[in-house]
Amino acid sequence: VRGYSAVSRGGLRLEGVKDVIAVASGKGGVGKSTTAVNLAVALARNCQLKVGLLDADVYGPSIPTMMKIHRKPDVDGDSKMIPIESYGVQCMSIGFLVEKDAPIVWRGPMVMSALQKMTRGVSWGNLDVLVVDMPPGTGDAQLTMSQNLKLSGALIVSTPQDVALIDARRGVQMFSKVEVPILGMVENMSYFKCPHCGEPSFIFGKGGTLKTANEMGLKLVGEIPIEVEIREGCDEGVPVVVSAPDSTVSKAYGEVAQKV
Ligand code: ADP
Repeated sequence: VRGYSAVSRGGLRLEGVKDVIAVASGKGGVGKSTTAVNLAVALARNCQLKVGLLDADVYGPSIPTMMKIHRKPDVDGDSKMIPIESYGVQCMSIGFLVEKDAPIVWRGPMVMSALQKMTRGVSWGNLDVLVVDMPPGTGDAQLTMSQNLKLSGALIVSTPQDVALIDARRGVQMFSKVEVPILGMVENMSYFKCPHCGEPSFIFGKGGTLKTANEMGLKLVGEIPIEVEIREGCDEGVPVVVSAPDSTVSKAYGEVAQKV
């Protein structure tokens, strides 16, 4: 296949891209995109790697907002889209191709072809690592991505809540089925530290992700609290690892980057 260096089991290796890491979750709204964005920027800034970020969240692409990119990508001579750089990360999102407020009402085959375009139709250049913000869940779209790309590993994001962890387990099992190694679990929204008294509140429960990780023989590679700065960073398009690089949460994202 033109543009690919090797065909291997479980997917095609993207030319020039050394490693592809999927950031996945069983459930939506647990902070998968937030983790993917902060991880990608931390990998670029703290680990001095050449990093790409692919937003494959077909029904809710957040990367244009979170990385403050509001234009469409240019196309090169081979009709491939050129990623848009933001905070030192080469970004591509399905959101670049649709109108901002338009609902994405696609049937399965359209989702599949959009995902193919996002992977094969992009001129990624030389990257040490491509972080993929996966669609949430364990359906066709996730399988297509896992099989389209030769994934080096997957990072599973969950909150400590049982309903999220049950779905996270499904995610782990899906990757096992397609023989993608799990790099670890990230617990997001671990706790909320009261800004007045400093007392932590375990809003979504305590210790659930560590327990699940232990039961599944996985590593817990990060615990990210609920923080206003994280949410503001998402909405303002300036990830917290950029706006407050020395904060505790940015250090926590830095540790996740080191561990993966
Ligand atoms: P997903 O990709 O799993 O659907 P998002 O990353 O889009 O989830 O996060 C959902 C919402 O929660 C976003 O509005 C985001 O700003 C917010 N959020 C995620 N993680 C945190 C956190 N640790 N602290 C505060 N807000 C968060």
